[in-house]
Amino acid sequence: MTVIPIRTLGDPVLRQPAREVTDFDDALRRLADDLFETMYDAPGVGLAANQVGLQIACFVYDDHEEHKGFVANPVLSELDGEQLEDEGCLSIPGPYHPTARALRVRLRGRDLEGNERDIRAEGLLARIFQHETDHLLGGLYIDRLDDEGRRDVMRQLRELELERASGGGTSRTVGHRERALE
Ligand code: ZN
Repeated sequence: MTVIPIRTLGDPVLRQPAREVTDFDDALRRLADDLFETMYDAPGVGLAANQVGLQIACFVYDDHEEHKGFVANPVLSELDGEQLEDEGCLSIPGPYHPTARALRVRLRGRDLEGNERDIRAEGLLARIFQHETDHLLGGLYIDRLDDEGRRDVMRQLRELELERASGGGTSRTVGHRERALE
């Protein structure tokens, strides 16, 4: 298994929709292993393939509440209710901002063998599924914020860059780590 560098904001691959998975083969299993390894190393609770530069419609997740797995060709339906919680992204490392999401979703897709997966999720898991599915369509959570929200994320990003440039720590992110989405 290999930790793959995560692409960050400004990399065009994050803005391109991923291709449907058609081959459920050893290469896909290796990719899933690498995605898990990279997600845990970051650390984060989800990671989409295009975040490591591969335009392949799949992602891995682990909400640390006993829900973890791999989904290819995800499709969301039955979005219901609303939740507003801090959201971040491994491709926009550091900042968090309250982001509105559906509270409950149904996610359908395929597992590593190509079998159908059909999952009903709520809360954090529903948020992860929405975040990762957005990635595979070329979306980012900041697209869902208003102008002020986006400006706040960019401001946090600049402050963190300045901190790092001056040799300071990144203590601001530590308390939020377990919420880091991918
Ligand atoms: Zn993300």
